[in-house]
Amino acid sequence: MKLLIPPETVQARLALCRACPHFQAQSTPLPGGGTLPTASCARCGCFLHVKARLFGQRCPEGKW
Ligand code: SF4
Repeated sequence: MKLLIPPETVQARLALCRACPHFQAQSTPLPGGGTLPTASCARCGCFLHVKARLFGQRCPEGKW
């Protein structure tokens, strides 16, 4: 069973999210340096970098 969608589709979804008024930009610092993207959707509450990668997920506003 496939769970992950193609990378180009993930990027297209995230581009729509970044332009959306419900997008909540956020990142979490990692102990060893760098950051983990933890942006979320104010509409559904999901972490978008996870949700955008999964088959069967839908934008609650119908944008993807
Ligand atoms: S999932 Fe939909 S409503 Fe939520 S931030 Fe992305 S485009 Fe906006």
